[in-house]
Amino acid sequence: MKEVGINRGFGPMGQDVNFDIGVVGGGIVGLASAYKIMLGHPGMRIAVFEKEERLATHQTGHNSGVIHSGLYYKPGSNKAKTCAKGRKELVDFAKEHKIPYEICGKIIVATDKRELEGLEKIFRNAQENEIEGVRKIGPQEIGAIEPFCTGIAGLHVPCTGIIDFTEVAVKLAELIQTAGDGNKILTSHKVIGFEKHNSHTKVLTDRTAFAAKYIINCAGLECDRIAKKDGVEPQIRIIPFRGDYYELTEQAGSKVKNLIYPVPNPDFPFLGVHFTRMIDGSVECGPNAVFSFKREGYGKIDFNLRDAWESLSFVGTWKLFFKHWKYGLGEYTRAFSKKLFLRQLQRLIPSLRADDIQPGTAGVRAQAVGLNGTPIDDFVIERRGNSIHVLNAPSPAATASLAIGDYINEIATEHFKL
Ligand SMILES: Cc1cc2nc3c(=O)[nH]c(=O)nc-3n(C[C@H](O)[C@H](O)[C@H](O)COP(=O)(O)OP(=O)(O)OC[C@H]3O[C@@H](n4cnc5c(N)ncnc54)[C@H](O)[C@@H]3O)c2cc1C
Repeated sequence: MKEVGINRGFGPMGQDVNFDIGVVGGGIVGLASAYKIMLGHPGMRIAVFEKEERLATHQTGHNSGVIHSGLYYKPGSNKAKTCAKGRKELVDFAKEHKIPYEICGKIIVATDKRELEGLEKIFRNAQENEIEGVRKIGPQEIGAIEPFCTGIAGLHVPCTGIIDFTEVAVKLAELIQTAGDGNKILTSHKVIGFEKHNSHTKVLTDRTAFAAKYIINCAGLECDRIAKKDGVEPQIRIIPFRGDYYELTEQAGSKVKNLIYPVPNPDFPFLGVHFTRMIDGSVECGPNAVFSFKREGYGKIDFNLRDAWESLSFVGTWKLFFKHWKYGLGEYTRAFSKKLFLRQLQRLIPSLRADDIQPGTAGVRAQAVGLNGTPIDDFVIERRGNSIHVLNAPSPAATASLAIGDYINEIATEHFKL
């Protein structure tokens, strides 16, 4: 991408800056925010700084590719509101820009009596969140929808879908870049610091420096560090949780038609290992949720001293470990044992065999954890001075991205007085 040095450009607001808005992070949240601000404020010069060579390299490019319905989330929460709205907008966006997607529906399956209460709670949530068409199904209908799956009760969620979120991110970048000469998508530009001035912030990258009037931090796994560089001391810490996937072999692919989910553990914001037909036709099984010693570590034994130290020196991490050591240990052992991982998958598809699955990819979630050890469930967005910091944007932030973009635009319009 073309590099731009400090110049004497004049934005629509008359400031002596390169950009009106500098967005840190070229994942789907940063790009959707930049896109919505661009639509809301035509003529504004926007830069997206991305440290990697390619956009969507981290969470956005390593997820399950599911367009979530919004039925899990606490009624009234930002997640609930933006997921349902964002899903509809995402589908319209995909249609308009010819991005392949499919609304194939999913089932959530209880395999044990102890899960029935959780299933009922999800059903009630779905009703409160007004998710279209969700209905209870019994064992026979589970078998009719997914012939290899067995369970004692379930929910059918017809409005869930699949898409490749990297394609969405790349399209957003293209639209931002082509909307005006003043907009730039600056890949291979790692933001390493900020210098505050009266009328602007100097954004220091590992290649050069730029002046931006306002900063929006959407740095995903690095968002707490970017916030600190901007003088904000967040009360949360990003704790990385790796999710490993297996893939069904081509021969076993027919055992899954669409999407099959378990009833999730209500103590965690993770959905439990599930089967996902991807938009390219392959079927992924996973992800688990394992504490990772490296923020951008996709291998099982990846380690980074700084990342590990920052996670383990945070009191909230230890409180989380002590509270949930049994769950954590289970996830850890399954991460290293194909046999145990398979056993978990067999709860949903009992006929699955070891040679039906092969190791697949992995993703790392940026999960914000509070000082008291609680994983923060909802999106967290902080405004400070000339900056907005997105400090927690876990799943379903990809589904919700366009609605999150609207929300950031609203906050920016008010907070920055655009
Ligand atoms: C395993 C897994 C499965 C998931 N499944 C789903 C799903 O099916 N559906 C769904 O809706 N959501 C899902 N999610 C959640 C979703 O992927 C994320 O919530 C979403 O992608 C977050 O987007 P983001 O832009 O905030 O973060 P990211 O995509 O991580 O983007 C942040 C970007 O900031 C860049 N960056 C960091 N530091 C700097 C710096 N100093 N300078 C410049 N750039 C920087 C990074 O390189 C990165 O590209 C899943 C997540 C994971 C990990």
